[in-house]
Amino acid sequence: MRSIAIFGATGSIGVNTLDLIGRAPQEYQVAVLTGGRNIALLAEQAKTHRAALAVTADESRYDELKDLLSGTGTEVAAGAEAIRDAAQRPNDWTMSAIVGAAGLVPSLTTVARGGALALANKESLVCAGPLLMKTAESSGAEILPVDSEHSAIFQCLGGHTSETVERVTITASGGAFRDWPMDKLASASVAEASTHPNFAMGQRITIDSATMFNKAMEIIEAKEFFGFEADQIDVVIQREQIIHALVTFNDGAMMAHLGAPDMRHAIGFALHWPERRFLPVERVDLVKLGQLTFAAPDPARYPALALADEVMKTGGLSGAVFNAAKEIALDHFIAGKIGFTDMARVVAATLSACSRESGYGTAADSLEKVLQMNHFARVTATELIARHQ
Ligand code: NDP
Ligand code: MG
Repeated sequence: MRSIAIFGATGSIGVNTLDLIGRAPQEYQVAVLTGGRNIALLAEQAKTHRAALAVTADESRYDELKDLLSGTGTEVAAGAEAIRDAAQRPNDWTMSAIVGAAGLVPSLTTVARGGALALANKESLVCAGPLLMKTAESSGAEILPVDSEHSAIFQCLGGHTSETVERVTITASGGAFRDWPMDKLASASVAEASTHPNFAMGQRITIDSATMFNKAMEIIEAKEFFGFEADQIDVVIQREQIIHALVTFNDGAMMAHLGAPDMRHAIGFALHWPERRFLPVERVDLVKLGQLTFAAPDPARYPALALADEVMKTGGLSGAVFNAAKEIALDHFIAGKIGFTDMARVVAATLSACSRESGYGTAADSLEKVLQMNHFARVTATELIARHQ
């Protein structure tokens, strides 16, 4: 039996991970499940999968979770420290699927103790890529990408090193507003931005797909994880989202990864690695599909992409600032305090304000430095928004 920990079990990735694990319960022992505010779902998951430990990030909800799980044998804990402690427990396979910078500590803690990490939390690599990769190198931890594009690149590489790669192409859907007239974007509502043409995902990443902040994060993620140069990475709109990424090798060969838009593919691939096993995902019918279309993203519609280029050229702690500013901008958009197109403006202004801070260009090589810059950028972004209201 393999012991499994899932950080962010109550989210979209967490639920899909448990769906796969629940299909072969005799093979897995669920050691840790963590959630945030969805206490009812966390308790239900812990009961169904007989979890050894259930942790909510929300300390004020400890009693509620404890009551729901009394008499079940599941240990209960709450708070950010409890999440860090849970990540320290040895397990065979850990899924990092908390949304946002809060996912960094469990990712880093798992990697430091040398465990296999299935990494959905892209913020870990955007904020602290060099630190995470260096820690994995010294502990011998294996990181398996779960973001569908990065799982696709990993599969296309087929064991070849990044030195044999000329270019990688990450595909994008274009998000909810890909066909909207540009002058309507400023007034786009939260509900309109929360729909995705192909994938069913958490609300935050769905809105990030509409702005392409998600794709911007993914370019940085690809650079940090695989070690590509910024100018080797392209983004192409692939409306059908059947191709998830392409790799062009130095002999001119292009390998593409095709599959139905279902996160259980990338999750299952990481779960079964190095084997490939049956997965209950839809098979693509190419004839029914008829065609695959490609288009370059318009930089004016998606300013997030140029900001990602700036971050990759700057390096240092700029990734932590970029992510923090994006999170704050997204919070304010969801709360109805700023408009859709204001989000990119907030991120650009925060990057510019924080670039004057000492330490901005220094390496992201310690958790303290990253968390400090993350905090400073969050305060800066919040102040910038308040000043313009
Ligand atoms: P969701 O919003 O659906 O779920 C997020 C999870 O994190 C929930 O379990 C939530 O708990 C928990 N959580 C939220 N805030 C905190 C916090 N401060 N501390 C601890 N736990 C917290 O997100 P997704 O599943 O969509 O995404 C998870 C990660 O995977 C993100 O980094 C995303 O970018 C990445 N990803 C997601 C994909 C997808 O298809 N969904 C695809 C590729 C990458 P609760 O709900 O109980 O409050
Ligand atoms: Mg993705």
